[in-house]
Amino acid sequence: MTRAPLSDRANRDEIVSLASRLISIPSTSGEERAVMAEVSRWCGATGLPFQLIASDVERPNIVVSLGDPTAGPILVMNGHLDTVPVSDLLSWRSGPYDPTVTEDGQKLVGRGASDMKSSVAVMLHVMHILKDVPLRGAVQTHVVSDEETGGALGTKFLLDEISGGRLTRPDYCLIGEKSDLKVRNAERGLLAINVRCLGRASHTAAARVTGVNAIAKAAKAILALEKDIDRFHPAVGKPVISVNTIEAGVAHNVVPGECTFSIDRRLIPGETRESAVAEIAATLDALARDDPDFRYELEIDPLKDHIPANITESSSPLVQALQRSVKDVTGDEPEYFVAWAGATDGRFYRQVGIDTVGYGPGGENAHGANEAVKIDDLVTQARVYAETISRILIN
Ligand SMILES: [Zn+2]
Repeated sequence: MTRAPLSDRANRDEIVSLASRLISIPSTSGEERAVMAEVSRWCGATGLPFQLIASDVERPNIVVSLGDPTAGPILVMNGHLDTVPVSDLLSWRSGPYDPTVTEDGQKLVGRGASDMKSSVAVMLHVMHILKDVPLRGAVQTHVVSDEETGGALGTKFLLDEISGGRLTRPDYCLIGEKSDLKVRNAERGLLAINVRCLGRASHTAAARVTGVNAIAKAAKAILALEKDIDRFHPAVGKPVISVNTIEAGVAHNVVPGECTFSIDRRLIPGETRESAVAEIAATLDALARDDPDFRYELEIDPLKDHIPANITESSSPLVQALQRSVKDVTGDEPEYFVAWAGATDGRFYRQVGIDTVGYGPGGENAHGANEAVKIDDLVTQARVYAETISRILIN
């Protein structure tokens, strides 16, 4: 007799009920304590071993563990329970903390439904499914605070504890952020650059005599830089360059001597901080060759928030197991998620050399009114996670 696959144990009603319970407890970044208390209570009632790991007691993290970490690989699922605050309250059709299933039964609506309490409910549900299953190795869930506000007290703190030897280091990590059930094995990096165009301030009357208008020079530079970058990586798509702020001018009657604009550059694997800066400089230098009055200075990474592009190669056993599981569970060929790709906590695991893949549900209006997640996708996510874990820790 063959045992039914673990993925068959995924239960839609249990996932929706747990997700709803998490949504009903407000947990704006900074106020995660109550929702984490509920997770502890749920783990206790379900008989799942867990540890509270906190740098700040108001913003704890929970590590739920099953199996024997000394007996084989360790796979962790990571999800955050902090959310952005509610804004635009009048546009919500139901209370943001009153989780509601839409009339057609297809979506669960509430603050955090898509980003990403429902996905955490899936992870906890999968832990529950695995509770009495013998594993060669261990499976864990890192339920974290502080994702929306930088991660220092959340995932980064857990990874510091791991580096310090106080917490078990996983071999593999699954990130449950929204990915429309597509595989997300890489993330774009981020680099901010300020460009200061230098002109010569003067009386407006002398604008064509002694003045060099820095706003006009910046306008040329922006038009040269603000364009599609024709380069593509199959895991994340294209790089992005966008001019997002501009500052100049002191008075209505003074030709501006300076104009500073900021560039948000999203990097794909293969691009580096140096290569991105060199491209921008080359574009600006070409303008300077045609215009002796075009002068500029660059300020690289002014906010010190540069993130390198990061990737877990598709040859990783985790990517392979996930891709095969997607195919088994859905019958479809797995696709890469290239449509919308902001950063997730996955980068912190990749930065310390842990193979990391994102796979999560589809949803809408994350950070907006009527935030919602697709319930069918949550069931698929649970089945794919259970199948992936089976491939790595059971079969
Ligand atoms: Zn998120």
